[in-house]
Amino acid sequence: MRLSQMLFVTLREDPAEAEIPSHKLMLRAGYIRRVASGVYAYLPLMWRVLQKVSQIVREEMNAAGAQECLLPQLQPSELWQESGRWDTYTKAEGIMFSLVDRQEREMGLGPTHEEVITAIARDMIRSYRQLPINLYQIQTKFRDEIRPRFGLMRGREFIMKDAYSFDADEAGMKQTYQKMNQAYHNILRRSGLKFRAVDADSGAIGGSGSQEFMVLADAGEDEILYTEDGKYAANVEKANSLPADAEISPFTTSEKRETPGTETIEKMCQFLQCSPTCVVKNVLYQANYDNGMTVLVLVSIRGDQDVNEVKLQNELVKLASQYRASTVLALTVPDAAAQAKWAAKPLPLGYMAPDLADSYIKPPKPAPVEMKAAGSVVPKFLRMVDKTAVDLKNFATGSDESGYHIVGANWGSEFKLPDLVVDVRKAVAGDRALHDPTQTLQTARGIEIGHIFQLGTKYSKSMGATYTNEQGEEMPLVMGCYGVGVSRLAQAAVEQSHDKDGIVWSVAIAPYHAIVVIPNVSDETQVQAAETLYTELNQAGVETLLDDRNERAGVKFKDADLIGIPYRIVTGKSLKDGKVEVVNRATREAQELPLEDIVPTLKQWIAAALE
Ligand code: ATP
Ligand code: MG
Repeated sequence: MRLSQMLFVTLREDPAEAEIPSHKLMLRAGYIRRVASGVYAYLPLMWRVLQKVSQIVREEMNAAGAQECLLPQLQPSELWQESGRWDTYTKAEGIMFSLVDRQEREMGLGPTHEEVITAIARDMIRSYRQLPINLYQIQTKFRDEIRPRFGLMRGREFIMKDAYSFDADEAGMKQTYQKMNQAYHNILRRSGLKFRAVDADSGAIGGSGSQEFMVLADAGEDEILYTEDGKYAANVEKANSLPADAEISPFTTSEKRETPGTETIEKMCQFLQCSPTCVVKNVLYQANYDNGMTVLVLVSIRGDQDVNEVKLQNELVKLASQYRASTVLALTVPDAAAQAKWAAKPLPLGYMAPDLADSYIKPPKPAPVEMKAAGSVVPKFLRMVDKTAVDLKNFATGSDESGYHIVGANWGSEFKLPDLVVDVRKAVAGDRALHDPTQTLQTARGIEIGHIFQLGTKYSKSMGATYTNEQGEEMPLVMGCYGVGVSRLAQAAVEQSHDKDGIVWSVAIAPYHAIVVIPNVSDETQVQAAETLYTELNQAGVETLLDDRNERAGVKFKDADLIGIPYRIVTGKSLKDGKVEVVNRATREAQELPLEDIVPTLKQWIAAALE
């Protein structure tokens, strides 16, 4: 491709809409253009990158035994009603774009394809003889993200590879999962990314496990905790560890003490001269269930620990049926405005006890039974205690009265131990690892590029996708699902690999391997040499651009650096000695090579880089 004929516009200044380096660079280098919030045009250079990434993904999926297909993006609401996700996805959570067609039928734009694929499996898979089956597609997904940002990192329209596997049993599904795990490692390695596979939260679906593939970068939205020995890595949402040992409590008798102005654990511990490990803190949350019920949750946890809200949310989802709901839509720490809606009187904030009286919640207004569910607040606190607080003796905690704490308290005497004992503690960097307490957890930031998931029978059961086993029994299909953000991967590569002058693509996913630059287009020798190299390189399979624009050499060099093509070949002054300059974009190494060596040398470098 000749730059003179390409839609090629680079920007000198950082665009105001971009915050992180990769987003700025992709806009500046003319790879993408914003059309609406979270909606981008992939321009010709970008499309080549996306096709390269897609091709790597495709090859690895095929090698793992998956088959490519293409499923509809326009999906009937009925399928989502069957799985029970229509209302949550279109209304409550609102991630799914939906529409009504001219026949008044409700449809949605696919944010994911479990429903569609399960319906197909239900119709087409009859017997164990057909199993296992693994289908994948590479396609645009639509999600009405609340905060689209960072360009392609979190778009509302983006490209994903999603795969869905169907096995006869758990063991088969685990084998398929292992193959996909290997394929994902291969995809990221081949794309030239530094990454880590981490244990991930599989949310309310449960299942026996899931892993996320994280590209390491400071701008990543996720925190990873890992150990140096390489044996443990997890998303902080999921991570477990050993908390520090609790100190022996300095309190020997139980009493109420005046502790003015000590609303925080730090102030309280300073005032009472005790370690936060001797404190039970009581944290209030508000959970909104999908049927409109609000539940106030009081979590008692050791004073030096924090609540992991993802773990807490999972516990609350497990309790959903108790409130005749199916999931939790929002979990928040209620602010003053939220408290005003349900509190009967001001809460003793900073001094709450594990037995905070239920009378702090307004009693329900008398209403017909059928109206109670919608918008109602459960008039009792849901109390739970984290494992870290269960064994504490003679602890200090709130008294339910502002300005006073109880010290020397014990479960079973001053306070009743909540029936619900949970693990909702947040692991943090510096904690000891469970598998080897001599290892401490380290922290890193990551961009989630892929997620592989042992789904089990959630969708096959709700949608009735069964097969007949060897014994003639009807069994639910055991599923797995596996996603890669193709467009997110491309931008993550830039986030991980750039310098002050621009993008530094790996050969595997660069839009072109090489760019031939003519410093002076009015010099016929330069033009001739460049034209010949350009033709011969492309013929030899080295994907090459030709910068034949009538621009100053300095501008061309800057643009070549900005768009990040791995090798730059300059037909400049040394042509008189039969040589041209070759510059490696990543290392900046420049060398002069005889004209006739260029094609074989480049071919060899590229083959080596793609190994
Ligand atoms: P996230 O937590 O980042 O929202 P997710 O858990 O919703 O991701 P999945 O539903 O597992 O993601 O989707 C599979 C992959 O698709 C993700 O690992 C990610 O790489 C990509 N992806 C998800 N949402 C977006 C988005 N809004 N824009 C670009 N890529 C996305
Ligand atoms: Mg998401």
